[in-house]
Amino acid sequence: MKIMSILPVTVRLLGRERTLFHNQFNCIFAKMSSSSGKRLRVLVDMDGVIADFEGGFLKKFRARYPNEPYITLEDRRGFWVSSQYGSLRSDLCEKAISIWESKDFFIELEPIPGGVQAVKEMAKMENTDVFICTSPIKHYIHCPYEKYAWIDKHLGFDFLEQIILTRDKTVVTGDILIDDKPELIGVEPNPSWEHVLFTACHNKHIPPSFSRRRLLSWADDWRGLLESKRH
Ligand SMILES: [Mg+2]
Repeated sequence: MKIMSILPVTVRLLGRERTLFHNQFNCIFAKMSSSSGKRLRVLVDMDGVIADFEGGFLKKFRARYPNEPYITLEDRRGFWVSSQYGSLRSDLCEKAISIWESKDFFIELEPIPGGVQAVKEMAKMENTDVFICTSPIKHYIHCPYEKYAWIDKHLGFDFLEQIILTRDKTVVTGDILIDDKPELIGVEPNPSWEHVLFTACHNKHIPPSFSRRRLLSWADDWRGLLESKRH
């Protein structure tokens, strides 16, 4: 009796999400019933993998500080932009940080070529679950909201179901994590995923490693990479 009275209210309250509510259940049941083989869980990082953080940063840094020195994408070294700017001149560290802490920085990032298309394609693959696994900055006024808005804008409203916001990716389970950050550390010493390094301006000079595969760009063989994890 109680359930009968609560359910219509819930559905009414869901408003726009009513369609999603039904679709989600259909989707989950469809996935459960069709799972003949092992499902592959792919985690895709956002900044530097599908959203062009470095390009967006440089453009806005030069616009806001036209008289300050800057580092070209060709000369970028090391994961932390602020550290390299700080080594150029100490006060440039704070100026760099001010760029990505500003409103509209994350929502206005351009997609990295081929990334959005690849993620959409892999999400449609049989026995494949794709999640966007991204670490928001701790200055949280704009960033988490804008990351959701970016996914909605480029991947669509339904993809909001597939977002994992975390500062520690080691606690997330998956088969592959495609990420441009060379060192992913956290509380879990043995993450379940294989870290595939996505090539970016700041990591392309790191020597090849036998123990870590790379994806050079979205034009690289990401389909083969996924296939290799199914066996
Ligand atoms: Mg990244």
